[in-house]
Amino acid sequence: MDKKRVYTFGNGQAEGKADMRNLLGGKGANLAEMNLIGVPVPPGFTITTEVCSEYYELGKDKVVELLKADVEKAIANIENLMNSKFGDVENPLLVSVRSGARASMPGMMDTILNLGLNDEVVEGLSRKTGRPRFAWDSYRRFVQMYGDVVLGMKPVNKEDIDPFEEIIEKVKEEKGVKLDNELEVEDLKELVKRFKVAVKEQTGQDFPTCAYEQLWGAICAVFRSWMNERAILYRKMEGIPAEWGTAVSVQAMVFGNMGDTSATGVCFSRDAGNGEDLFNGEYLINAQGEDVVAGIRTPQQITKIGSQRWAERAGISEEERVAKYPSMEEAMPEIYKELDALQTKLENHYRDMQDMEFTVQEGKLWFLQTRNGKRTGAAMVKIAMDLLRQGMIDEKTALERCEPNKLDELLHPVFDKKALKEAKVLTRGLPASPGAATGQIVFFADDAAKWAADGKKVVMVRIETSPEDLAGMAVAEGILTARGGMTSHAAVVARGMGKCCVSGAGAINVDYKTRTVEIEGITLKEGDFISLNGTTGEVYKGKVETKAAEVSGDFAALMDLCNKYTKLNVRTNADTPHDAEVARAFGASGIGLCRTEHMFFDAEKIVAMREMILSPDVEGRRKALAKLLPFQKADFKGIFKAMDGCPVNVRLLDPPLHEFVPHDAKGQEEMAKAMGVTVQEIKKRVESLCEHNPMLGHRGCRLGNTYPEITEMQTQAILGAAIELKKEGYDPHPEIMVPLTGILYEFEAQEKVIRDAAAALFEKEGMEIPFKVGTMIEIPRAALTANRIASRAEYFSFGTNDLTQMTFGYSRDDIASFLPVYLEKKILKVDPFQVLDQNGVGQLIEMAVDKGRSVRPDLKCGICGEHGGEPSSVKFCHKVGLNYVSCSPFRVPIARLAAAQAAVEE
Ligand code: PEP
Ligand code: MG
Repeated sequence: MDKKRVYTFGNGQAEGKADMRNLLGGKGANLAEMNLIGVPVPPGFTITTEVCSEYYELGKDKVVELLKADVEKAIANIENLMNSKFGDVENPLLVSVRSGARASMPGMMDTILNLGLNDEVVEGLSRKTGRPRFAWDSYRRFVQMYGDVVLGMKPVNKEDIDPFEEIIEKVKEEKGVKLDNELEVEDLKELVKRFKVAVKEQTGQDFPTCAYEQLWGAICAVFRSWMNERAILYRKMEGIPAEWGTAVSVQAMVFGNMGDTSATGVCFSRDAGNGEDLFNGEYLINAQGEDVVAGIRTPQQITKIGSQRWAERAGISEEERVAKYPSMEEAMPEIYKELDALQTKLENHYRDMQDMEFTVQEGKLWFLQTRNGKRTGAAMVKIAMDLLRQGMIDEKTALERCEPNKLDELLHPVFDKKALKEAKVLTRGLPASPGAATGQIVFFADDAAKWAADGKKVVMVRIETSPEDLAGMAVAEGILTARGGMTSHAAVVARGMGKCCVSGAGAINVDYKTRTVEIEGITLKEGDFISLNGTTGEVYKGKVETKAAEVSGDFAALMDLCNKYTKLNVRTNADTPHDAEVARAFGASGIGLCRTEHMFFDAEKIVAMREMILSPDVEGRRKALAKLLPFQKADFKGIFKAMDGCPVNVRLLDPPLHEFVPHDAKGQEEMAKAMGVTVQEIKKRVESLCEHNPMLGHRGCRLGNTYPEITEMQTQAILGAAIELKKEGYDPHPEIMVPLTGILYEFEAQEKVIRDAAAALFEKEGMEIPFKVGTMIEIPRAALTANRIASRAEYFSFGTNDLTQMTFGYSRDDIASFLPVYLEKKILKVDPFQVLDQNGVGQLIEMAVDKGRSVRPDLKCGICGEHGGEPSSVKFCHKVGLNYVSCSPFRVPIARLAAAQAAVEE
């Protein structure tokens, strides 16, 4: 049997259901489900995501042929339920055509409303409804949308003006009015006339009048919009695969623009910005859906409390608010009650925060969409923990509801309270997406991208944002807009990105031409600093100091929940006491990698270090190392103190020596003077240290084996620091790690140096400190011979940066020259230095763990490459039985959540 491509729904029945989102897209699946649970939804049908792939394989004609019979049948079903006829003049059925992928991609793809109109049908609609203005307003909207989306008239270049908008402005000017809704029937007729002329001029064709021709055009345009630039960019940002495709939902139109008993709106069952358990949203009377989300008219609030909060922020009195901007709760109390009951029903049904779209047509409420709402990281955590407390979900579900990478937002700095008090508030807008942002003003997305690439922090300031601004928003610290509400695309997308956003700041005047913004009499230019508080909606002049975030409240509760389920420990990579403290506050249970190389770079130490390297013999090196010893010891003391009671894994010096020596004439002269030798001699020695391939050269334990005195000094410093602390009452747990082991004997030789130095020190100090000696596994040979290495090494730490480098044969330092092409051509799906290659590198890890434990069953294994903080890699580490992952301090909470999820998923 031929596969099913079209799924109908309507009147309480549906062929699809909620768990069919892969096939029907989120929108299609939920439209079906809403029907099944008794939520009023206009009847329609969904064409599957598989057809999207067919469209790209077979092209338009073939796909239309495949769909024709099913779509005609499905349209007949709508006609039956709506008691009207598609394309009929006297009793027309109009439809909407909308996209809906598996994962929601707000505003990224295209929509066509009011489809089915032509010059005759519009008159019929006008007679049928007795509302000529409504009929013509719908028609002009349709021609514009269809022209832009289906006929490709929307300018590609953002700076160019939409030809239809240009005509609207012209007609308004001729008429002497400012707003679209001041246009009368005759003006709307004139608009349609001129629109059609523009279509003919630009496309060489007449605007299609046949309803089915319009429908096929629209369906295929929605499939095409899957591959538009912004959808591609959005997918890249969100990690959505291109193969998924979009479904297309076709639905009977219901109209929010049929006068004052009609309305349209968007609402959320909880606050998507901060997670508060409060129904909220926005609506517009006598409007169509796109008016709310496009951010052109600033909409009114749905609830009274929301409206009061909004008025307070905007400095509007209660009388003025009630008179001019009443909430839906006040203006349409009956409908509001129904809406509130249905939103509760939907949230209870899906057990998650819902983002819903609705339309009221002449007093009757219809739902057009529901989906699990996009939310900020803070809202994600609060909502999950609230739902747990409210008994709506269990602990494991709460953990799974949180996306590890989104915790990053909770760790971003917040404004320092004191600095905030002193900052000058310029104006207030809507708190569209929380957070603190400070940066230089830019007005255009491409400038934002350029400036950010130069390392500048920018804040994008716009009259309104549209999905085309995505690339700029992605790199900006924050976004400020003059127009648009809490549910505008700017706000929804910003929240999804966890980006600070203040929207609808009506008091700002943006002038794109002069690249200035005037705020309450103060003019700021491009490049001036501005600060935004997305939590309160406040806008400040200049820079405002920020401070680090902390783990408290629901965030802390979530982390506690992680501890309950996790099997992996999470350590941190830290080589300063400060980093160690930060990581500990985020819940790190120790240090998994302390790189010692950075400890030699400050002004005083570097001279002694260089002296050590440039010395021609052991005596010279020992003399210089003796100078370094106290510095190293002090460094280790600081770190052990910060990690008191927890294991600290210190790695012996790893990088090639040439990184430490002076390559410039001035530096070489200084060293010659300090060491009492000629510049020539220094130069010669520096040259002799140069390597063609330093990554594969004289580094890691090859250094320690050629210059054992370095290993000896570092051992004395590590254990010396531990002894001193122990005497002061602290509880240090040192581990000493050999880098870049490839051969058992390399390790054995280093281990002997370490143990001898330790024994001598313990005897001298009259005190022993228990410590372990382990190794990095970062050379494929080490993984292959892990059983031999584990016969001596007490623990393994997988250095997946080098292990990836040497398994793929890609230089860590030079991958940028070909990686972009490889990603583009899909030779690689992801950068293997960021996401662990489970098939290849992962196999080496799994094998090494097994081989190692075959000779040493209690062998502790961890990972300390960059992958230790990447969620999918952390889950892999759990699967292959590592004891811990170690990552940079700010990734510790992310790794903790990923580790707990791995345990729960098991
Ligand atoms: C590694 O190679 O994964 C590692 C942690 O060491 P480094 O990055 O210092 O080479
Ligand atoms: Mg390494």
